[in-house]
Amino acid sequence: MASITLTEHDRKELLDRFLRYVAVDTQSDENSTSSPSTEKQKDLARLLVEELKTIGLDDARMDEWGYVWASLPASVPPGHPAAGKIPAVGLIAHLDTYFGTSGGGVTPHVIERYGGGDIRLPGDPEQVIVFADNPNLGACLGHTIVTSDGRTLLGADDKAGIAEIVTLVSWLRRHPEVPHGPIKVAFTTDEEVGRGTEHFDVAAFGADVAYTLDGSDLAEIEDETFCADTAIVTVQGHDVHPGYAKGKMVNAVRVAAAIVSRLEEEFLPETTEERQPYLHAYDVRGDVSKVELKLLVRAFSEEELVRREDSLRAVIDEVCRLFPAARVALEIKESYRNMAYKIAEDPRVLEFAFEAVRRLGLEPKRKAIRGGTDGARLSFMGLLTPNIWAGGQSFHSVQEWVSLDWMVKAVEVTAHLLGVWVERSKP
Ligand SMILES: [Zn+2]
Repeated sequence: MASITLTEHDRKELLDRFLRYVAVDTQSDENSTSSPSTEKQKDLARLLVEELKTIGLDDARMDEWGYVWASLPASVPPGHPAAGKIPAVGLIAHLDTYFGTSGGGVTPHVIERYGGGDIRLPGDPEQVIVFADNPNLGACLGHTIVTSDGRTLLGADDKAGIAEIVTLVSWLRRHPEVPHGPIKVAFTTDEEVGRGTEHFDVAAFGADVAYTLDGSDLAEIEDETFCADTAIVTVQGHDVHPGYAKGKMVNAVRVAAAIVSRLEEEFLPETTEERQPYLHAYDVRGDVSKVELKLLVRAFSEEELVRREDSLRAVIDEVCRLFPAARVALEIKESYRNMAYKIAEDPRVLEFAFEAVRRLGLEPKRKAIRGGTDGARLSFMGLLTPNIWAGGQSFHSVQEWVSLDWMVKAVEVTAHLLGVWVERSKP
């Protein structure tokens, strides 16, 4: 087994790279219909193409959607027993940052040898990362911590992942003795607005399996997402002049309110965590004559998803008995499914990632994402893609922070992972 430990110099290179990337504003826009949703995402894409070329990934290029593509050929010599048989591994991260928080003029704040306690952000006295509210800070004593100055997000989501992948390929170029198969790199745009795979050509990418580096905590591998549907409830009422409405008016607003008020308290986003499912009434619009109510349905299995939808049907039936003249229709639209259903098709994808974590001397933690991810969509497009930690914490917020030490471990685990794919591909 090749020795895989980043030196002090590698670590500095990783930090410099990360600081360079967060300085480029790549905030996406959920209301834009163009691709990428904001042109400025291409500024970082262009910079990355240049860096990858300098490192020696000569085929690095940006496409019209702002995606960056590059590849590194296998390092195993032609005589190696696994030569030509090692699956190509894709490494993916996203260029854009969250649309809801400013990503312009990011001024990173680097804390060397973090000694514990609250972190007061220098650009806004109101912004304090409270030690007691961030249990992971306790796990990062002595680490190098990076935050923003409190006026913008930091952008570790997902520029930590990008810096880790670029550092890894640069490190591999300088360590030809470390065995790896073909590596395919992709940096995508608009992940935060749910369009990160819109223009992703899985066949052209050429990877047999892939990993996103877009998670949070050390040793965490995520292979599960929600099963997700959207429920649309349409209530037809009957509007009459309110002064003369007795016995005639059917108020759709009251019918919709009755439905929302009957949703089970124990299955709401604000009352659930971990593997618990929920129903979330998130949008209501209309008037006396017609109301449209939208709900998110989320669960980790299709069976539980159906149970939540049945509970909504039961509520609607009950309300219809109270308002017999109202007409209520329910439409269910599928959003996405738990990626674990797909990833189970090739157990190696997860197993090898766990083995790589163990080679770092850590116990792998399998985690389920209470949301969607590009990896989930890619998995259903035929490219199985679990998610590896990138180190960032408190995503999407001005209090976002990252541990450089956890970023270093993300680079090392990915190097180990490539090695496991080589070893296990031997005939
Ligand atoms: Zn992300």
